[in-house]
Amino acid sequence: MDTSAAYPTVPGGPLDVDREFYAAVATSPGRTLVEAFEIPIRTGMAWQVPAGHVCRLVTVDGPQVGDLNIWSLHNPRERFWAARTRQLQAAHVTTYDRLWSNLPYLRPLATITADTLEDYGVDAEGGRVHDTLGTRCDPYVNRMLSGDDDDFHCHSNLTRAVLPHGLTEFDVHDVLNVFQCTGLNEKDEYFMKDCPARPGDYFELFAETDLLLALSTCPGGDLSVPLWGPDAVDPTDFCHPIGVEVYKLDEQVLQDWKEPQVNPYAGAHGLRLRPDPAKS
Ligand SMILES: [Zn+2]
Repeated sequence: MDTSAAYPTVPGGPLDVDREFYAAVATSPGRTLVEAFEIPIRTGMAWQVPAGHVCRLVTVDGPQVGDLNIWSLHNPRERFWAARTRQLQAAHVTTYDRLWSNLPYLRPLATITADTLEDYGVDAEGGRVHDTLGTRCDPYVNRMLSGDDDDFHCHSNLTRAVLPHGLTEFDVHDVLNVFQCTGLNEKDEYFMKDCPARPGDYFELFAETDLLLALSTCPGGDLSVPLWGPDAVDPTDFCHPIGVEVYKLDEQVLQDWKEPQVNPYAGAHGLRLRPDPAKS
């Protein structure tokens, strides 16, 4: 039985990323820091990353998972599509993987240019880092599982973060769980492990178009203690901030780069009007 990728990467094809270019982006000495801030524990923030810039997320002083949403800045109906990214790239993403947008756009919104946890690979339990398998924690599942109302889950943190940008709860979408170690167990159930990030670890994205990003510092912190069930523990002591840095790149690096265009499918799903044969 052939279990190779369902969407194989053909050399020179649309899934074949230009590694030479993105390696140059990652190592370009001419980058300039244009914005830097820290997202405090158990909250969310949103910020813009212009096309051709790089955004670095840093676990500044200890392990912390982050729930990342990405929109096309000028058309937020176009946003990160976790499920298709999982199929086109992998369930856990790292350097040179691309983060794809939803239909009817389907283009890379961002390309990962650096990941200091890349060498984590796969652990003894099958855990891997930077997960598109799961989604954000939210107050509805929390209410269902615990009976309590809590306003600081990632879904709520992201909702508050995007309000000043004209977006709402309905714009919050399935996330990329950065720094989060997850997998599927032998029963095909989703599991989460302790976050392996150390102070100073980072994950870096190249913006393929003008982007709005939002990140929640998950209230579960480093996910080292159970959040639900009889052994549940308040994880506040296991929470850390995440740093955000945005860099402008040297024009020289970008001279041959072109912003990816939205998908050119020109059909209309079989709905185009045709002449009625009875009237001809
Ligand atoms: Zn969360």
